[in-house]
Amino acid sequence: MKNKIVSYIVPKLTDYSAAALEKAVGECIAACKSESEEVRNDAELKSFRDRWMARKNGILTQINDLWLKGAAKDAKREAGIRVNALKARITEMVDAAHVAETDADSLSAERVDISLPGIRRPIGAEHPVIKTRNEIVGVFERLGYSVAEGPVVETDYYNFEALNFPPNHPARDTQDTLFIGAQQSKPQRDRLLLRTHTSPVQIRTMEKMRPPIRIVIPGTVHRNDPPDASHSPMFHQIEGLAVDTNITFGDLKGTLDHAMKALFGSSVKTHFRPSFFPFTEPSAELYVTCFICGGSGKRSSDPCRPCKQTGWIEVLGCGMVDPNVFEFVKDNGYDPKKVSGFAFGMGVDRLALLKYGVDDIQLFFQGDVRFLQQFG
Ligand SMILES: [Zn+2]
Repeated sequence: MKNKIVSYIVPKLTDYSAAALEKAVGECIAACKSESEEVRNDAELKSFRDRWMARKNGILTQINDLWLKGAAKDAKREAGIRVNALKARITEMVDAAHVAETDADSLSAERVDISLPGIRRPIGAEHPVIKTRNEIVGVFERLGYSVAEGPVVETDYYNFEALNFPPNHPARDTQDTLFIGAQQSKPQRDRLLLRTHTSPVQIRTMEKMRPPIRIVIPGTVHRNDPPDASHSPMFHQIEGLAVDTNITFGDLKGTLDHAMKALFGSSVKTHFRPSFFPFTEPSAELYVTCFICGGSGKRSSDPCRPCKQTGWIEVLGCGMVDPNVFEFVKDNGYDPKKVSGFAFGMGVDRLALLKYGVDDIQLFFQGDVRFLQQFG
């Protein structure tokens, strides 16, 4: 902290010897100097000037009054010369006083130019995969489905066993599934892995909620696939599950037909082909008429590549929930003799590739702004 100077008070002079005058003048100049150095802003500068120069009761006026008027006749001349010199000196110093340089600098640095435009932050855009995911989820939300989510690191039990995968199913092989290391000491059903599909959330939800349920499950899944134009070790799925009494394959077909028309346009046709999944029986693959060539297999005179000229594109796998799956959650109201349901699952990335005409899935995950900007 700076030493605050005790404000200068004009002393009364009794001794008018040269030495005493010299001393009084010196003290006055020193006081004026140090006060001038204390000036920090324009307001302080003004009050400093007033204090010293004011015609009425300013310090110079006081000196005039106290020193000259009190002087004896013979000392008056000498004192007058001194006081005049002092006044000139003080006037000079007061005129030269200014707001200290460093403070002036910091003030100008703090100055805000209110005429400058604001900082414009670019508005982000949805990633094409997230956009596609939200569109699909939105279609089912409007049908009354709730959104459920589950862990990406899953146990063998939820990922395979409870979904009716037999113990030696090839999906359990490390060539297909990414397992967490050092799990050999655990029983197989407790071993951790990166979920290979969003289907485990079906079981997790049925454990928590009694029927009827209608859920969609978006999420990331992992498989032991080397990355290439159509494969990625991480990708996105959306799973759906509806369980109630008297749910039939007709409900499945009607629901998915509606969803495909909502997603790809009311003119697309749907087509179910028999398939196999361990957790559904019967199972089917759903095809829609190619939304790129309209089902003709041709784009003007060129063959249509996305549908391989067939006019049909496979979009998802589906089926009626296998009664063996309900057995795992039977105690929570899912008696396979009383309830039935359907399930479906689709790859979001693949649909985004088709929808936007992108030919390499890696582009979605490389984070290249030049690519992503096209979707903004
Ligand atoms: Zn086509």
